[in-house]
Amino acid sequence: MGGMVRRTSFILAAFLLLAFTGRAGAFVVGEHQAEPDYVVVIDPGHGGDDTGAIGPGGIEEKEVALSLALKVAEALKSSGLKVILTRADDRFIPLEDRTAFANSNGADLFISIHANAAASRDANGIETFFLNFEATDEDARRVAAFENNAPLVVKRAGEESSDLKDILLDLENTGAHHESSRLAEAVHLSMLKYSTGGENRGVKQAPFAVLVGATMPAILVESGFISNPGEEKRLASDKGQHRIARSIAEGILGFKKSFEKGDSFVGTGKKTSKN
Ligand SMILES: [Zn+2]
Repeated sequence: MGGMVRRTSFILAAFLLLAFTGRAGAFVVGEHQAEPDYVVVIDPGHGGDDTGAIGPGGIEEKEVALSLALKVAEALKSSGLKVILTRADDRFIPLEDRTAFANSNGADLFISIHANAAASRDANGIETFFLNFEATDEDARRVAAFENNAPLVVKRAGEESSDLKDILLDLENTGAHHESSRLAEAVHLSMLKYSTGGENRGVKQAPFAVLVGATMPAILVESGFISNPGEEKRLASDKGQHRIARSIAEGILGFKKSFEKGDSFVGTGKKTSKN
């Protein structure tokens, strides 16, 4: 009988230990706990039935976006940031739910990751966007129209609903909007530094539905043209993805660092976290 009791106690203790470690693990998202306040939400574009653009070699944008997002997350976590993904597998999430997710998780930054596509296979390079009611140019409008081809559609200039217009006009008065342009610059410059010769298509503004309503600096990255056979290969390769992901992560870290040097940030009302 005594042996039975001891064994039961042992099993109970082991169970409790497992239960507690399992539970503790569930709360730790970042790997370092020293600075748990800085939250980055990474949004891999598309997913599920929404494949995004498809390259000439059959690579789907949704796969590239997820692989890149996971690698960016890994890089940021190893630098001590807390990272949450809007999706970590192949599923569809409505565009408006993605920023809502960032807002409800108190994100300090939101970055939506995509790959570009054009009718011409020669089109190449990277471009980085932040939200505005007016697109920078016809090309920026086209990109937004493609990416918005999901619920909450913005079709073309002049057709936007007045609700969306109000949201965007409101947005222009917020710190988050101003900081979005700085975040876009930081990430774009870092991507250029690591790029392997693609065209610098610049930082642009356009009415992206996925960025509407974000209360923190929010950008959308077009990490290369999946419609360009050479860039498609690079976007699909592990090496190419690591390079792009590292450049995005370093851009984010550079942006974060610029605030730690004393620049003010009024976007989320949060104070910049200090050591
Ligand atoms: Zn996309």
